[in-house]
This record gives sequence, C-alpha cells and structure tokens, in this order.
Amino acid sequence: MKFETKAIHAGQEADAATGSVTVPVYQTATYKQDGIGRDRGWEYSRTGNPTRAAWESAIAALEGGKFGLAFASGLAAETAVLSLLKSGDHIVAGDELYGGTYRLFEQVFSRWGITASYVDTANAASVARAVRKNTKMLWLETPSNPLLKIADINALAALARRKNIVFVADNTFASPYFQNPLELGADIVLHSATKYLGGHSDVVGGVVVTSNGLLYDNIKFHQNAQGAVPGPWDCWLMLRGIKTLPVRMREHEANAKYLAAFLSGHPAVEKVYYPGLQNHPGHTVAKRQMRGFGGLVSIKVKGGFEAAKTVAENLTIFTLGESLGGVESLVCHPAKMTHASIPEKERKRLGITDNLLRLSVGLENRDDLKADLVRTLGMI
Ligand SMILES: *Cc1c(COP(=O)(O)O)cnc(C)c1O
Repeated sequence: MKFETKAIHAGQEADAATGSVTVPVYQTATYKQDGIGRDRGWEYSRTGNPTRAAWESAIAALEGGKFGLAFASGLAAETAVLSLLKSGDHIVAGDELYGGTYRLFEQVFSRWGITASYVDTANAASVARAVRKNTKMLWLETPSNPLLKIADINALAALARRKNIVFVADNTFASPYFQNPLELGADIVLHSATKYLGGHSDVVGGVVVTSNGLLYDNIKFHQNAQGAVPGPWDCWLMLRGIKTLPVRMREHEANAKYLAAFLSGHPAVEKVYYPGLQNHPGHTVAKRQMRGFGGLVSIKVKGGFEAAKTVAENLTIFTLGESLGGVESLVCHPAKMTHASIPEKERKRLGITDNLLRLSVGLENRDDLKADLVRTLGMI
C-alpha cells in the first residue's frame, strides 16, 4: 500500500462488532472478563484500549515500523524512551533540540545520573567525537529546531551501530510523509503528534515507533508502568488527523516554498532558513533522505529584537504562538518562547538570536500569507 492509502486504512478496519467505518471511541476504563484469567484481549485501558491500538498500528504503518506506542504528549513519549537508560549512561544529543526535550534531559533525567552532551548533528564527525564509553543513546531532530539543520541519518546510523548506541530520531518536523528515519537506519522514531500528525492544533499527543522487538517491549513496559497514555478521544482525533496528512503536507510544503523564495529576496530579511533552498547547507542531504522539505521556514530580520517583535506582533494571519504543524499559520520568537529554557549564552552560540522568527506555514491562501509578511516587514 502507498502512503495515502495507509493513512486512511492501516489499523483502521471497519469495527468488527458493528461495521462502523470509523474506529469507535472506546470510552471505557475496564473490560468484562469472561472468567478469571479469561479476558477478550483487553483488561484495563492504561494497558490497552482498542482506539489507542488502532492509532498505534496506523502510525507504525506510516513510519514503516513494526510497532507503535502512543502517549499523552511528545514529552511523555520521550520520558518512556529515556527510561531505557540507567544511572551513569550518557546521551549524545543534537544541540538544537525542542526546548522541552532539553529541559527533560537537564532538569529531570540529569538528577538520576543520566548525562548528555550537545553537538551539531549536521556534522557527523562532531557526533563521533562526542561518543564516550558510557554513551548509550544518540538523540536528534532533523530538520532541527529552529534553524532547520539537516543531520545525515544514514551516516549517523552506521556510527550508532558500530558503537552499539540506540539511535532515536525525533521526526516531528518532517512528518512521516516526508521522512522515515527507521528506513534510513534509526532504531526509534518519535513524534510530538500534537504537530503535523494531529494537524489541527486541537490535541496533544506523542508516539514512538520501532521495528526492534526488544526496544518495543521495554518501552511498552514503561508506557504501562509510568502510565502517560492518551485517552481514546485523543487517539480518535489523531486517527482523523492522519487521514489528511499527505494532502496537508503537500500544501504546507508548497506554501512554505513559495514564502521562502519570496522572503529570500526581501530587503528587510537578513537570512532565510529552509532546507528546500539551494543555498541551505543541508540541502543535498535533505534531498537524498527526505521526500519533501516541510512547512517550517525560519528568518532573521534586519535589526534586533525590536524589529522581530514588530513583525511578530503585527502579523494578523500568522498567529503569534508556540507549536507548529497545524492548518493555521503560526509565528514564534524562539529565543523568548520555545527555546527560552536554553541558557542565553548557549542560544547565542547556536545562532538563536533575538532577530530570529520561526514560521509554521499553514494552509491559508499563500498570497494572503505573503501579503501579511509584506505589510509587517515594511514596518521595520
Ligand atoms: C512539540 C515538540 C515536542 C514535545 O511534544 P509535546 O507534544 O508538546 O509534549 C518534542 N519535539 C519536538 C520537535 C516538538 O516540536
């Protein structure tokens, strides 16, 4: 089956009991057992729920993996994956991570003796140099957040295999429509399903997909033991969201390309970051490992914080807000918003400057979006 067909049918057969074409919302906490030790495959909804199971099969199919696991949020999914580690273990992580992931490493797991080094994962040699004897996990986002740098998944997977390190790829920005890290050699792919998978900014969720049975069993154990599972309604919204994922992603990308090209020639714009642009340093690798470049565009405006603030606060179609990947366009100021938990010195080193804005290009008419940018860029 091709992607579009899987998005609508994988894991979503008509309901066995009623023929319902959409997977029902099994709003139940527990299940009748036919005798002691004789259940019908379902015991308790933290452990398993049919609506959640459908969502888990569907996302596994979209990522080309064997097993899917759903969580209450992206960070809950990350917590379960990090629970594979033990005190004394070390993570090599991308230096441009979602701020909440960085906070989870530095303020939660660090207290249990798990340490992380942060490197530019677009540079395979610096990843290799950061590996220590006790390194057990490689963790990255590609495209990265917010500068959309590209890591070569294939090359890093070879390194991870050689060093016996579990390779975790956060595929939130690309979505499974444009990139499948498992097929490129990663061991675990995870998503904040809150973003493109749900796609409508109306539900928070996370998923993990792997084809490795041992990793799956271990993460599934933590899913049940820690209990950060999504409710059936949230799973149902995710199932509804992914049905249109291919259509949405194609349009997100077409709009993003259009705006990236226009912004590249605008006199008030200092720099445009979009992997689809020829001059993007990761363009060649992106072309090789992705089927499209996605819907996020970051820009540095000419001037400092005040210039960026003027644009961000005067846009009317782009909404100022955190998050990304919904049908509506959003603008955020990474330094003061999504990446505020990263120390200022570190932000400066990374290039997350005060004149940087990240655009999540939505599905509105692209000329309306352009006009919104033309007007506000004209104000600085
Ligand atoms: C939003 C986000 C997360 C966290 O997911 P939540 O659903 O907000 O918990 C993790 N990684 C990336 C890349 C994100 O954008």
